[in-house]
Amino acid sequence: MMRSHRAGSLRASDDGSEVTLCGWVDSRRDHGGVVFLDLRDVEGIVQVVVDPTRPGCEEAHRVRAEWVLRVVGTVTRRPEGTVNPDLGTGEIEVAASSLEVLNESDPVPFPLDERAGEVDEGTRLRYRYLDLRRPAMQLNLLLRSRVNSSLRASMDRQGFTEVETPMLIASTPEGARDFVVPSRLSPGSFYALPQSPQLFKQLLMVGGVDRYFQLARCLRDEDLRADRQFEFVQYDAEMSFAGADDVMEVVGTAVADAVEAVTGERPEAFPRMTWHEAQERYGTDKPDVRFGMELVDLGPVFASTGFRAFQAEAVKGIRVVGEGAASRSRLDALTDRAKGLGAAGLVWMRVGEGGALESPVAKFLSDDERRDLVGSMAAEPGDLLLMVAGERRVANHVLGVLRLDLGRPPVDEGGLRFLWVVDFPLFEGLADDGSPVPAHHPFTMPHPDDLALLDAEGIDLLGVRSQAYDLVLNGWELGSGSVRIHRRDVQERIFTLLGISPETARERFGFLLDAFRFGAPPHAGFAFGVDRLVAILAGEENIREVIAFPKTQSGADPLTGAPGPLDSAQLRELGLTVAVPRGATARPDPRH
Ligand code: ASP
Repeated sequence: MMRSHRAGSLRASDDGSEVTLCGWVDSRRDHGGVVFLDLRDVEGIVQVVVDPTRPGCEEAHRVRAEWVLRVVGTVTRRPEGTVNPDLGTGEIEVAASSLEVLNESDPVPFPLDERAGEVDEGTRLRYRYLDLRRPAMQLNLLLRSRVNSSLRASMDRQGFTEVETPMLIASTPEGARDFVVPSRLSPGSFYALPQSPQLFKQLLMVGGVDRYFQLARCLRDEDLRADRQFEFVQYDAEMSFAGADDVMEVVGTAVADAVEAVTGERPEAFPRMTWHEAQERYGTDKPDVRFGMELVDLGPVFASTGFRAFQAEAVKGIRVVGEGAASRSRLDALTDRAKGLGAAGLVWMRVGEGGALESPVAKFLSDDERRDLVGSMAAEPGDLLLMVAGERRVANHVLGVLRLDLGRPPVDEGGLRFLWVVDFPLFEGLADDGSPVPAHHPFTMPHPDDLALLDAEGIDLLGVRSQAYDLVLNGWELGSGSVRIHRRDVQERIFTLLGISPETARERFGFLLDAFRFGAPPHAGFAFGVDRLVAILAGEENIREVIAFPKTQSGADPLTGAPGPLDSAQLRELGLTVAVPRGATARPDPRH
C-alpha cells in the first residue's frame, strides 16, 4: 500500500499513530526553521509540520503548490491555541519523519480554493482536472455517485430490471434536434443519438420486461442554459400493467430514497396539482412552491368595470409584500419586463394606510372595486400590487414570471419542495400549418375522459387533456412521464392529428406500430434529469457544477477542443463533403 490513511480523515483519536499519507500540496508556509504544508487528498486537508534539517525531509524547502507528496509521520495534537475549528482535521497535525516528492507541478493557472469560484468558467473547464481537485467539486461528484447508487438500489428493491438501450438509433422525437452520426458502411445514411430511450423502453414492455429502468445518457441538440446540457443523464423507467399512480409511487419512492441517502432526511409524500391549477395559481407548469405570492384572479372584482383596460378575458394580480416604496424607475422596468413577456401593459398600485391605493389608474376604479381589490389581494399598507389584464394564458404567464423575478429564493434556501403536476394538455399549441404540437411526446395516452373528443368535429384540441405528469422540484422541471398509447389504432389516430402522414408514420415508427400488433401490454413510465436533481441537492444553480466534464454555454469543450473538423480522409470514408453555411464562421479552437 502506498498510504496507510487518507489525509483528510485523520482526527484527534488518531493521536500518536504513525501514518503514511499521499496527496497534493494545497499550500506551504516556510517559517525559516519549520515548513508547514497543507496536504490535500480526496477526503480533505491536513497540516503537516516538517523539519527540513531532518534526514529524509530535505525536499521540504523545494516543494510548491500542487506537488505530489508521500509523507510518513506521527499524528500529534496541535498545540493549545492553534486548533482550527474550520477543518475536520483541525485538532491535529502530522509531524513528518520523511517526505518524498512523487511528482512536481508547474504553477497552476488559478488558485484551487474558494477563489476558484470567481475564475472565468472557460479557464476552469480548460483545466477541469485541476478544478476537480477542489473539495467542493469532489463533494459534488461524491453526492452524484451516492444519488446514482441509491436510485439503482431503490429500483432494484422495487423489482425493476436495468437494461441498456442502444446509442446509435433511428430518431426518437422529444421535441429537440437530433445529434447525428454518419454511417461508414452505408455512406449517406445516418444514425441519430437518442434524445431519450423512449421507443426502446416501450418495446421492452412489448418484450415482456415488465419493469425497466436505466440511468440513460440522452443527447439533444438545443441551446444550452444553466439547467441544460447537450448530453445529460436521465433516470428512465417504464412499467407494464401500470397507470399514472403506480409510476408516481415508484418514482416518488426512488427520489425520496436518494434524497434521504444524501441529506439524512426523507421528504414527505409529494403533493399533486393539476396543470390547470398550476397555471392559474403560479402562471407556469413548474411552480416553485417554496414561496407564496400566488396569482389572484380579479375577474369577480372587475366583472362589470368601467375601466377599459380591465374589460378583458382575465384580470389577475400578485401582491409583492413591502415593495410599495419601489421607485418609479423600478416600476417602469417591471412594466417593460411585462411588455417584453407579451402583456399589453402592467398596472401597479401602491397600498397606503387604510387601503388607500396610489396609482395612475386608481381614479378609473369605483370605490367598491378598490375595496374589493384590497380585500381579494389581502393587501396591507406598504405592499405593491401588480396586475395584468388580457388573454388568460398571457396574464398567467406574465405574472408567473414576475412572481419568480420578485420572489424566488436562492437555490439553497426554502427546503426541497417536490410537486407532481398532473393532467397536462395533450397539445401545447398549434404549428404554423395548423397541426397541434404534442405537449409531451406523440406516444402519450389522452385522458380517458377526453379520448372520445379526438374524433369529434370542430373541437378545441388544445382543451384535450393527456395522461402526462411532471415532477417539479423548487420550480425546476425535474422530469416527465405519461401513460403510453399501447394500441395501434390510437397511435395512428394521434399521428394523423399531428399531421404525420401514414407513409411518414410507417417509415419512421413502423417498428413501433408493428410491435403494437403483437399484444402490447398497457404501460406507463417516467424520466427525470439526474443532473438537475443532484444540482439542487448540492445547492448549485448550474448543472455544470455537478458534471465532471461539461460543455460551455456555446457547446464547446475547452479541455479537449471539441467540436473540431474532420480530416479529409475521414470525410471521404464517410462519403461526406462539408459545406459551411454562408455567413457561418468556423469556430475558433476554444483552447486558444
Ligand atoms: N421520454 C420522456 C422524456 O425524455 C420521458 C418519458 O415520457 O418517460 O422526456
